[in-house]
Amino acid sequence: MQKYDFKTQPSILIQGAMDTETEYLIEKLEGREKITLGNWEFHTGFLGKYREPVIISKTYQGMVNAAAASSLALACFSPKTVINQGIAGGHDTSFHRGDVVIGEKVVPMGAMVRRYAPHGAGISETDFEPLPIEIFDKGLGKTRKVVDFPCDERLIAIAEQMEAGLTAGRGVLGSADEWNNQIDRIALLRERYHTTAEDMESAAPAELCLSYGIPFIAIRILSNSVVNGEEFDESVGLEGQKFVLRFVEALQGL
Ligand code: SAH
Repeated sequence: MQKYDFKTQPSILIQGAMDTETEYLIEKLEGREKITLGNWEFHTGFLGKYREPVIISKTYQGMVNAAAASSLALACFSPKTVINQGIAGGHDTSFHRGDVVIGEKVVPMGAMVRRYAPHGAGISETDFEPLPIEIFDKGLGKTRKVVDFPCDERLIAIAEQMEAGLTAGRGVLGSADEWNNQIDRIALLRERYHTTAEDMESAAPAELCLSYGIPFIAIRILSNSVVNGEEFDESVGLEGQKFVLRFVEALQGL
């Protein structure tokens, strides 16, 4: 059989920031090969019972790393679908540690415009609104402003229909270089950005996929929920990866 050319032939790009979010999937790859671009590792191979061509990308933590790894992947490979997955912290009390948030959209919750205040007026933490940010829309051939990045409806529907063995539901993922623990601030973020959970990467690939017109979904398993008093346990990342493996199998033919 001729070798599959991941640079030009379609594949699913699966991203995770840390080992606890990527190791199991990398281990499951058939015909695994590692490609290094800059500081980032990409593991190509075939995943699941239908031997789906995939690229597992370890992005490292945070928005800049996730943006760099995504940009490299979009320029050097030919992903037809992008899945950003991993662990997250709960904002909505109805989701608990170990539950999965299927992103219906991702909001860049660090993007905010602050209202004018004169010298000496002090600093209000609550005087802000979401800042529309500029994307280059490849389909339109020009830039436009958006306040959030929708995930692909077909991908969401498939994720929702899966028999996962985990509690999973649609939600909004807020993403920024932030780790929030103040309950009142989380309530405010929920009011302004309608967040279900927060992470530190998904908005970067979501923005780039919207820009390029590539179907995108973010899938996050809660490793902590300060709003429910549930402490951090990153080992849930393994269950998250198993969920994503079943999701990739459910995508067969898409
Ligand atoms: N011991 C680890 C913990 C990192 S957890 C370390 O410092 O290396 C941070 C990662 O988990 C980020 O990549 C982020 O996407 C995700 N995450 C989990 N819970 C989060 C929360 N409450 N807020 C923000 N990011 C969270």
